[in-house]
Amino acid sequence: MARILVVEDEADIAMLLADDLSMEGHQVEVARDGQEAGQRGRESGWDLIVLDVMLPKKDGFEVCRELRRAGVRTPIVLLTAKSHEAEKIMGLDLGADDYVTKPFNPRELRARIRALLRRAEGGAGEVVRFGAVEVQAARAEVRVGGRLVDLTAMEFKLLLAFTRSGGRVLSRDQLIDLAWGSDTYVTERAVDAHIVNLRRKIEPGAGEPRHIVSVRGLGYRFDE
Ligand code: CA
Repeated sequence: MARILVVEDEADIAMLLADDLSMEGHQVEVARDGQEAGQRGRESGWDLIVLDVMLPKKDGFEVCRELRRAGVRTPIVLLTAKSHEAEKIMGLDLGADDYVTKPFNPRELRARIRALLRRAEGGAGEVVRFGAVEVQAARAEVRVGGRLVDLTAMEFKLLLAFTRSGGRVLSRDQLIDLAWGSDTYVTERAVDAHIVNLRRKIEPGAGEPRHIVSVRGLGYRFDE
């Protein structure tokens, strides 16, 4: 599937990551310190870099900054310490694409990686499948059970926001930003109304939604 460089000095975590991502079908190599990461990260052919922040010789932030300055555009997921909110923001400022806090849940990390790899594939050939649904981003086509389904532009943008979310909970505000743009005034009730319609078109049954799940008090989450 993808070639992934894992940068982590703690051998047991590096091993766990490498095993886990290999099981997903990825080809994984490990670098053990910041200097090695800076060198190997520049090699061509990586689809993604998982970069721990706490590293010997050079920390993950520095590696990230260095790679971006050198023109490396490979998606980077930072592994940050849970308690440091500032670290996450700093990481994204330095050009990381996403972060996962330690101790991380392997399932969450896999979902984030999938989402990033999809995003990196870009509009070109992005095809997402879940349940009976197939989404072809570039052609704005959605099929359920092989049948073309007619979505409005808003429903389609909402669906893409969900499939690219990596299983993260999205608030109504975030959905407005992603589907409408942040300079538009849209009520939260309007978001809910579009989601009701979207669910009617893509969810397998009329009862409990399986893919676009409500998270009480927070928003919605996408489950594949
Ligand atoms: Ca470390």
